Amino acid sequence: MQPTDRRAVIRTLVGGAIGLALPGCRSVLRLPPDADGEYPVSLPPVWVRPERIIRTVVGHRPYRPSGYVVRVERMGDKTIVHNYGHGGGGVSLSWGSAWQAAQLAKPTGARRFAVLGAGVMGLSTARLLQEDGHEVTIYTKDLPLDTTSAVAGAQWSPTTVADRSRVTPAFAAQFSEAAHYAYRRFQRLAGERYGIRWMPNYFLSQRPPSTGGASDTSVLATPLRMGPTRAPGENPFPGMYAQRMFTMMIEPSRYLPALLEDFHRDGGRLVLREFADASALQSLDEPVLINCTGLGARRLVNDPELMPIKGQLVFVVPQAEVQYATLGNDLYMFPRRDGILLGGTFERGVESSDPDPAQTERILSGHRQLFDAMAHVAKG
Ligand SMILES: Cc1cc2nc3c(=O)[nH]c(=O)nc-3n(C[C@H](O)[C@H](O)[C@H](O)COP(=O)(O)OP(=O)(O)OC[C@H]3O[C@@H](n4cnc5c(N)ncnc54)[C@H](O)[C@@H]3O)c2cc1C
Repeated sequence: MQPTDRRAVIRTLVGGAIGLALPGCRSVLRLPPDADGEYPVSLPPVWVRPERIIRTVVGHRPYRPSGYVVRVERMGDKTIVHNYGHGGGGVSLSWGSAWQAAQLAKPTGARRFAVLGAGVMGLSTARLLQEDGHEVTIYTKDLPLDTTSAVAGAQWSPTTVADRSRVTPAFAAQFSEAAHYAYRRFQRLAGERYGIRWMPNYFLSQRPPSTGGASDTSVLATPLRMGPTRAPGENPFPGMYAQRMFTMMIEPSRYLPALLEDFHRDGGRLVLREFADASALQSLDEPVLINCTGLGARRLVNDPELMPIKGQLVFVVPQAEVQYATLGNDLYMFPRRDGILLGGTFERGVESSDPDPAQTERILSGHRQLFDAMAHVAKG
């Protein structure tokens, strides 16, 4: 059945239900405004005002133009499985890439593993090894909430993970396998405990989008599905074309502590320790190490391809009524319980951790323009 046919049937059914309601009968079937797949006519705007800013943060996406590394290597007495360099998609890919790393670690026959790093990649890898009955110790210089993973958005959408021109068929297959595995695994965790919610994300543009809308998802296959384009006037964003995609929003401030709690509950040990270089790894007791050090791998195992992509996020006071995300014109808005995240910077090779006031201004004014236009239409 075509969507328009389906809508017509639903309208008929609704009309029928109302028509058949007997006098005195109090229950009348009511569908929410977009129950038939239509866009809602309006959405609550985000209030972007200087006095509503609660914090500004900076993080560095651990980026490799040819894509992330999952491979095994012998280093002195140790076997080391690398699992780093996931760019702007590390949270999304985490379970899948961790599964790929675990597949390389298990044939060593070891029972005890050292995981280097306590970001999302280290925690997920540690959990998968524990689920197979192994003993795992995490060594890390930072606790989970002090890592790049804690800065992430984090929408389930593995983008900015490789340069289009550098993607090989082998990497595309590795990526696709990880993305599909992770997408299924995250769905099992949706709910309060892990801070994971399903949400519509609206991709916005001033001109009709040429392809899917999401940046590099068209070269790297993900399970996400983009809806049809709605012209200005047919969606809640004045003057904009919009496409809708449903995906999960993962809140790092809840998700990472929950993973760490699971890790400790199952007997895992976390040791705070920084490794100056690869030779320092030889002192560890465990025979097999999984390297989940993100951008830290650049120095630790001397990978010159690894580079930072600086991202700056401005948070404004949370609004419980905002249950949708937006992305477009180099800006994005993700509503979270710890604040409404306004983002949109991708500065390749920039090492500075200082917020840039000019970027803060661009992020705020762009979002204010978008959301104030919605508020204006709503007031009529
Ligand atoms: C602004 C921004 C927005 C993002 N949005 C999203 C998003 O919406 N969706 C998404 O999927 N991804 C997003 N990302 C990307 C995501 O944050 C990263 O890909 C991911 O966090 C990488 O995880 P990781 O565990 O590999 O690295 P990290 O989180 O950086 O963890 C690395 C760990 O290794 C440890 N370590 C490093 N070096 C050493 C050493 N020498 N000795 C001991 N320990 C060491 C660190 O202490 C840390 O524990 C975003 C990133 C940024 C910056």
